[in-house]
Amino acid sequence: MGDGGSDTGEDPMLDSLICVAGSSIKRSGFIASHSSDERERRVIFVNAGGEELRRQGHSEIEVETDRFFQGGDVLRTDEEVADGGDLPSIYQSARCGNFCYEFRDLPPGDYSVDLHFAEIVYTNGPRGMRVFNVFIQDEKAVSELDVYSIVGANRALQVMNIPVSAGKDGVVSVNFQGVVGSPTVSGICIKQGAPELQLVSSGRDGKSLLCDNCFAPVKLTAAENKAARMSFTAKYEREIRELKAQCQMKQDECYEAWMSLTAANQELEKVRAELDVKFFQNFTLGQAMEKETEKMAKISSKYEHDRRLWVAAIDELERKMKAIKSEHSQLSFEAHQCANSIPGLNQMVTAVQSLVGQYDDLKMKFNEEQERRKKLYNQLLESKGNIRVFCRCRPLNMEEASSRPQTVVEFTDAKDGDLGVLMNGSNKKIYKFDRVYTPKDDQCDVFEDASPVATSVLDGYNVCIFAYGQTGTGKTFTMEGTEQNRGVNYRTLELLFKIAEDRKKTISYDISVSVLEVYNEQVRDLLASSPPAKRMVVRLEIKQVSEGVNHVPGVVDMKVENVDEVWNILQTGSNARAVGSNNVNGHSSRSHCMICTVVRAKNLVTGECTRSKLWLVDLAGSERLAKTDVQGERLKEAQSINKSLSALGDVISALATKSSHIPYRNSKLTHLLQDSLGGDSKTLMFVQISPSEHDLGETVSSLNFATRVRGVELGPAKKQSDTTEIQKLKLMVRLNNFL
Ligand code: ADP
Ligand code: MG
Repeated sequence: MGDGGSDTGEDPMLDSLICVAGSSIKRSGFIASHSSDERERRVIFVNAGGEELRRQGHSEIEVETDRFFQGGDVLRTDEEVADGGDLPSIYQSARCGNFCYEFRDLPPGDYSVDLHFAEIVYTNGPRGMRVFNVFIQDEKAVSELDVYSIVGANRALQVMNIPVSAGKDGVVSVNFQGVVGSPTVSGICIKQGAPELQLVSSGRDGKSLLCDNCFAPVKLTAAENKAARMSFTAKYEREIRELKAQCQMKQDECYEAWMSLTAANQELEKVRAELDVKFFQNFTLGQAMEKETEKMAKISSKYEHDRRLWVAAIDELERKMKAIKSEHSQLSFEAHQCANSIPGLNQMVTAVQSLVGQYDDLKMKFNEEQERRKKLYNQLLESKGNIRVFCRCRPLNMEEASSRPQTVVEFTDAKDGDLGVLMNGSNKKIYKFDRVYTPKDDQCDVFEDASPVATSVLDGYNVCIFAYGQTGTGKTFTMEGTEQNRGVNYRTLELLFKIAEDRKKTISYDISVSVLEVYNEQVRDLLASSPPAKRMVVRLEIKQVSEGVNHVPGVVDMKVENVDEVWNILQTGSNARAVGSNNVNGHSSRSHCMICTVVRAKNLVTGECTRSKLWLVDLAGSERLAKTDVQGERLKEAQSINKSLSALGDVISALATKSSHIPYRNSKLTHLLQDSLGGDSKTLMFVQISPSEHDLGETVSSLNFATRVRGVELGPAKKQSDTTEIQKLKLMVRLNNFL
């Protein structure tokens, strides 16, 4: 135990660890004492965290297996522990962690405690990784012990002779409390009796005081002992103050460091927040960027596509442009040539423009004039009389020519409308008509005069043209004509279509045709598709549909578009007339053939609509019949013809005298013609005569009839004064037909 004093004097720092006077620290392991006293003093020696140990010999040692502990864990090492003394293996094990030891059943009295330590875990340190306090009987005995700091790793360290008293309960408790890390302990030895050794660095007289167990026989008095304790306490208090000051300094530093850390943290937080914002912005931008990139890709592909199209289009345009340019230069070259060849081109253009203006003006005036012309023309026709009479004489036929008969007609003043008839050889009578046609006058001449009357149907007038005369005088020839030499009927319709075509920009015309025959006071439709025999018995009735408008219900009304259709219709009618008759000429002579052309006009400018009729009538022969013939069927025919022709005379007469009653209904002929005789309607009569001496009687009869007709129409004065003449005329007609 002699090395105890030298240990405490080695390092004043170690003194600060010892809180209890009398105890000491030793930087080496347990050394067994040779004295038996020492051996007897050891009450309990436990190998903390280890097994029981025993060493025989002079210094017999017995160390118990670890017991009396509560809590903690066991630590062990195979490393050799340096300076382990007589029992180095004690230091190869330790109890560690949260633990304490409680030694029981000790006889009350004073004891001293030895604690054995070694740092066997943190062999590379560092200092301060394991710092702990030791309390004995709840009194701090060792303060902030750091084994590694004192001896390093795997080296033994002892804190010896810590005084303790066991009370009546016989308990000595040793508590370990960590300051940094977990406390450890390798062995605890409890010895009987208080430690007798007092360690001080120097006495009051400067002499060293030594342990009486070892070499120094000086034993301190109680007062000296107290003074030594006081000196310890003062030393520790000083050290505590220094430590406190250091601690304060460290605290200040810590505070400053903390403050700057806080500031840095705040800064960091700010930066982090900014970073977050930036990150978010970056993310958003990234997304936007992706979208834009996508769009961009689309746009560029579209652009590429469009560009190709445009390039192609531009190429095409350039090509066209070149062609146009060359064409243009060619044209301008030609234009220059042209302009050079026509010096006054501009003047010409201006002149043409002014002519166009004049043309429009003239067109307008022309329309006005046409309207006036129509009016004047009508007035002219009216001034000539609503009934006009043309006389036509046929040539001598072959038979007559061969028998050299006398020609009884003379055409010296035919141009003036005068016709001479030789009566009884030398007696010549002059008849006056609106027109006289010699046998030499052809169909064209006849139609030239008839056409104005005929075509006034297109101006909305009802017109009636009929041929009157003895059989064989050319009624049918004048009206129908032949295919090579067409008559009034065909020519009229041909002209109507021509005029309609000329006027189509201003007036639209609908033209329809029906063909009727009146025989024995029966109306027969020559265009009806029923069998001819049946047609004969169909009795068509005439109805008045409105004032001055007659209509035959059921009559076939063929719409015609052109003159070819007209010709077909006229042919159909003509053929139908012939069918069903044994004597074609005879039958046709004894019936009235009536072609009715209905014209519906619409003025496209004014919207005015008109409906007018043109009757073209080939009358039955007007000749007298021999008495012997007048029987049976012929008598009936003669009566019918007489009735209708005299009725025609009566109607004309009544119209002439402006009679209140016009007897249209006395015959089918007049009844049919009702709306085309009188009023505004125009009538043209061809009186057909034969030049032959044989026909003189009939010729005179026809001429007289015609003269009367024409005469009564020539003005109101005559109408009134000539009433007797009209009566005479009527009488004559009747007589002619009855005789
Ligand atoms: P109607 O019908 O009055 O009985 P037609 O027309 O049948 O008389 O004529 C009798 C004949 O006389 C026919 O052969 C016809 O060709 C002929 N004829 C009549 N008038 C003329 C004329 N102006 N020129 C030549 N031939 C005519
Ligand atoms: Mg005839």
